[in-house]
Amino acid sequence: MSKPTCIFCKIVNSEIPSAKVYEDPDFIAIRDIQPQAKTHLLVIPKAHFDHLDSPGAESVTVKIIAVANEVARLEGLTAHGYRVVVNTREWGGQTVAHLHMHVLGGEQLRGRFA
Ligand code: 5GP
Ligand code: ZN
Repeated sequence: MSKPTCIFCKIVNSEIPSAKVYEDPDFIAIRDIQPQAKTHLLVIPKAHFDHLDSPGAESVTVKIIAVANEVARLEGLTAHGYRVVVNTREWGGQTVAHLHMHVLGGEQLRGRFA
């Protein structure tokens, strides 16, 4: 197979370093390189899907929420709360075309999104 060019595939394959906080057979979670909150994590399926509604993505869209909750728990965000965001395509603010879920917390969040 040809080498992936997608930046998150490269992170999944450890071709690009990242601050990994969680890994299971299907997902990783890393710290966002440009955090928009005190805690800002990205939950990334190891399988590549461009968007939330890409064909086949439903195989990970339910579990990604469970992983986000688990990562939030591991990061101590559960008691005070947190925000999950999936930006989708251009107008949704998606800049990396590999489905991922933001987990934001560690402080009072206001009208900001990732
Ligand atoms: P999007 O804008 O697609 O919803 O989210 C992409 C996120 O990936 C952004 O918040 C951006 O800061 C983050 N990001 C982009 N490149 C890298 C990288 O190389 N490493 C990490 N850890 N985060 C990245
Ligand atoms: Zn990818």
